[in-house]
Amino acid sequence: MMHIYDDNNIFAKILRGEIPCDKVYEDDYVLAFNDIAPKAPVHVLLIPKGSYISIDDFGANGSAEEIKGFYAALAKIAREKGIAETGFRSIANTGVHGGQEVAHFHVHILGGNIGRKTARPDGS
Ligand code: AMP
Repeated sequence: MMHIYDDNNIFAKILRGEIPCDKVYEDDYVLAFNDIAPKAPVHVLLIPKGSYISIDDFGANGSAEEIKGFYAALAKIAREKGIAETGFRSIANTGVHGGQEVAHFHVHILGGNIGRKTARPDGS
């Protein structure tokens, strides 16, 4: 398990503006951008601006303001992307067994006709 935050992880570089991203939303607490390898029609990554390694680190050490800001942003993005009504998945891979590749806490927000085996005739 990772215990020390690595300032050189790719999302830290995105937060510092050293690497570009396809920005979806930003406020005082979070940055959200499109995943570079999307697994669904909507695939946004939401990250806190604070240096937290994982959901476990964020939940234990994030301030009430940061945690509120994070989930408020998640809800706002889901509404703005039009997936709040239809439904979506929020996934936080954590640590080695969770398959976490980037050691800065992030939630995958996946939407747009996932989780159903066949599409309706209207594509919804
Ligand atoms: P995880 O396994 O939860 O750590 O997933 C990391 C995610 O970050 C993967 O879905 C990658 O496609 C995505 N990713 C990696 N580098 C970038 C990048 N530069 N911009 C956007 N998404 C990225």
